[in-house]
Amino acid sequence: MTETAADSAPAVPVVAVVGRPNVGKSTLVNRILGRREAVVQDVPGVTRDRVFYDADWNGRKFVLVDTGGWAPDAAGMAARITEQAELAVATADAVLFVVDATVGTTDDDEAVVRVLRRSKKPVLLAANKVDDIRAEAEAASMWNLGLGEPHSVSALHGRGSGDLLDAVLKLLPEAPKDTGAEVGGPRRVALIGKPNVGKSSLLNRIAGSERSVVDDVAGTTVDPVDELVEVGGVTYRFIDTAGIRRRVKEATGHEYYASLRTQGAIERAEVCVALIDASQPVTEQDLRILTNAEESGRALVIAFNKWDLTDDERRRYLEREIERDLIQFGWASKINISAQTGRSVDRLGPAIEEALQGWETRIPTAKLNAFLGRLSAAHPHPVRGGKQPRIMFGTQAKAAPPTFILFTSGLLDDSYQRFVERRLREEFGFVGSPVHVQIRARE
Ligand code: GDP
Ligand code: GDP
Repeated sequence: MTETAADSAPAVPVVAVVGRPNVGKSTLVNRILGRREAVVQDVPGVTRDRVFYDADWNGRKFVLVDTGGWAPDAAGMAARITEQAELAVATADAVLFVVDATVGTTDDDEAVVRVLRRSKKPVLLAANKVDDIRAEAEAASMWNLGLGEPHSVSALHGRGSGDLLDAVLKLLPEAPKDTGAEVGGPRRVALIGKPNVGKSSLLNRIAGSERSVVDDVAGTTVDPVDELVEVGGVTYRFIDTAGIRRRVKEATGHEYYASLRTQGAIERAEVCVALIDASQPVTEQDLRILTNAEESGRALVIAFNKWDLTDDERRRYLEREIERDLIQFGWASKINISAQTGRSVDRLGPAIEEALQGWETRIPTAKLNAFLGRLSAAHPHPVRGGKQPRIMFGTQAKAAPPTFILFTSGLLDDSYQRFVERRLREEFGFVGSPVHVQIRARE
């Protein structure tokens, strides 16, 4: 769960909707989302000042921040509006500033404009409540805010909202491609593990000796061959089974070629089934193979094979090894099997499905931020050098594996980041999948 440059995911752009109360921000947000989102649960002690939604316009994804969820009160309202605008601007790539065309500009509007000017973020001015053509003239008077052309819109009736969104998206950086390639067809499984751990025995047990060969991958010298294998009623594409079935031992460097081959299979797979010999101590080589699968971001099932050869003492010792050596793979789906006797081999299918499900989990942005809000309220980051780093918001940049980006003010301590990662898993599961968390500090 560490951040590396290689897996740095592009963030979905963020648009904040700001403006004083009652101008129609929430109505506009719902218009943009095209539905009434379930209101995020009120949690005592947690402000609902900013709610984050996943939005999509003409196939472009962005996150919409609604800053409207607070009750206006006379006392200190101007300060509150300014503070809201500042918070929103700090997290956003672009700002949609909403004014009420039927009211005209107010001092509160002017206060927001000053915040927006200082931020130097791109701003789009929406003159709302322009319900018909007659109100257009009122919208035009909003030029006096000095923010360029007012885009007239009726959030309530939808008038002008499409043009408004087109204009908003022009202000945003290119939306990222989702790289969690859902290619379709049978899910791709790599059977991995050190020599003699029982890979070909397991393959023979589930596929039989009848080979249902799919195809050769052109241009490779080691002629990998995939097989379609049915496990628990579901057909999977087992990757490079030639390398498993053929008991060739290259005269020289066979370890080296075997590991190249394993790496190739992992790269092509969506889920890895890693076999470990339960009857023998866990080795460095086992750990290397597991680490490989994790670093490649694949879903993972650990199958402890040769269970028939284990006695109570060995099983107790294995428990200790799992806690000591395999603790970093605590998230993987695990099964105890015997390829020889067939014991619990029927649990392989459900374990693969569980891992794939965890791997492809998507957490809606509103849900994620409600969780992050609760977490930061209950466990704020310790103060560092007089400053308190905080998580402003988070978004899941992609699935397969789940990859999160946390936008923070100030850098989080490593220990706090690990704490957040742990709680993310506790909250949302992701069984069978690595989870990546990246931090972007915005000042
Ligand atoms: P917020 O406090 O800025 O989030 O404002 P709301 O979205 O809660 O809207 C305040 C009031 O203005 C509500 O009664 C809305 O129904 C109304 N409203 C919002 N948009 C429009 C609009 O385009 N036209 C008209 N006539 N009323 C609107
Ligand atoms: P591979 O090199 O990983 O493909 O391993 P093999 O499938 O060739 O198995 C290596 C040896 O372990 C063979 O002698 C198998 O019969 C034996 N073996 C595999 N699975 C089991 C098992 O579950 N229990 C027992 N007792 N032996 C097994």
